Amino acid sequence: MPYYKDLYTTGYYKEPGPKLDKESPFESMMERFRFAAEVLKLDEGMFQYLASPVKQVIVSVPVVMDSGKIEVFEGYRVIHDNVLGPSKGGIRYSPDVTIDEVKALAAWMTWKCAVVNVPFGGAKGGVRCNPNELSNAELERLTRRYTANLLDVFGPDKDIPAPDMNTNEQVMAWIMDTFSMNSKKTETAVVTGKPIILGGSQGRKEATGRGVVTVTLAALSKLGLMPNKVTVAVQGFGNVGSISAQLMYEQGARIIAISDINGGYYNKDGIDIPHAIEYMENNNRTLQGYPDVEQISNEELLEVDCDVLIPAAKEDQISRHNAGNIKAKIIAEGANGPVTANADAILEENGILVIPDILANAGGVTVSYFEWVQDRQGYFWTEERVNRRLNRMMRSAFENVYSVSNNHKITMRQAAYVYSIGRVATTLKMRGIYA
Ligand code: NAD
Repeated sequence: MPYYKDLYTTGYYKEPGPKLDKESPFESMMERFRFAAEVLKLDEGMFQYLASPVKQVIVSVPVVMDSGKIEVFEGYRVIHDNVLGPSKGGIRYSPDVTIDEVKALAAWMTWKCAVVNVPFGGAKGGVRCNPNELSNAELERLTRRYTANLLDVFGPDKDIPAPDMNTNEQVMAWIMDTFSMNSKKTETAVVTGKPIILGGSQGRKEATGRGVVTVTLAALSKLGLMPNKVTVAVQGFGNVGSISAQLMYEQGARIIAISDINGGYYNKDGIDIPHAIEYMENNNRTLQGYPDVEQISNEELLEVDCDVLIPAAKEDQISRHNAGNIKAKIIAEGANGPVTANADAILEENGILVIPDILANAGGVTVSYFEWVQDRQGYFWTEERVNRRLNRMMRSAFENVYSVSNNHKITMRQAAYVYSIGRVATTLKMRGIYA
């Protein structure tokens, strides 16, 4: 359908320095979106509506540094869609975050919420900064000013932030407090991923990794593989990577490779994951110097001979350059966008079952939804109840996507987009376009 191409090249999303590089996460997302739109036979207007973020905000975030000097950071918040409900999505602090990346991640959130049947639209935010170079007090001032600049955007019924790369429950607590101070009442439901004592949910911290493992186990069973007979490699050992590794380890899987930003660690006999987590926690949150392992690079980790590969670090790790070397039978995308669009066909050709990010890492947003529900009810569930409900929702999302994949003879990634874009488009058609 030619108009898709036009939209794409006429800069529907064009930035001041347009990125037409297919390896960019935004282009990868658009490529998949276009495919699903064709399968769903979306008309042009609907395509345009769903391709355009409803709101994009860029703010300057001035911070008085500990030295007394003022530094100005750039902050972003993009609401991609709010058809299914209030928009929801994380905030990342990173020196290389861009509005382009934030837009891609915001759209991903729309599809991700729709894939797990959570009544939220998609959003994402970020501040371009290097959190490693900021003191705690500077980080707090930066967070509070970023929040103050976005008071009109955020809200329990409007737009609900959550943690993402380099943000945590303390950052969420500062956002909640800043928002509450300005609305003159405690508004716990304005953010999720809060500390439990402030209205956070049991199980939220582990939710993304737990969801990754739930869908990985579902995929293993489709392939007739037993969890306690498989080998696993995990890229990234932060929140998502370490929890995924831990829970696969608890299932009896042999975790033969793990990594963080400093490199990878390999042991064909398996790594003692609880020990590695303890080591990382006592070693400035890095695995550097981890004993009894062979040191490998992050690139080598991806190509390790294993059954399950869990990329849980960052975008664009598997591209057309290395996709042909991947030996895993299953890739469960813990990170957002670890596989670029032009690697998809290579992985498919090699018979690798890819559980796409919008499904595999949707456990975080699912428990965020539970947290929001609990905050609004003022009634909190046990961890066991949270995990049970999470497991049920992730399992059923996996089955829904798996059957779309079988019915249309398309990959799990294509099926996840077809399923979720179909849901949003159907809801939009019923709501209609407000004049
Ligand atoms: P995190 O900051 O806790 O951990 C990131 C890990 O990746 C760290 O171990 C870091 O050392 C490693 N890393 C960073 N850059 C790397 C590189 N270039 N090569 C190899 N390793 C690298 O972050 P997280 O919360 O675990 O998030 C990881 C990914 O999962 C991100 O893409 C994020 O968007 C996605 N995600 C997170 C959540 C969540 O609930 N935390 C939910 C959905 C998706």
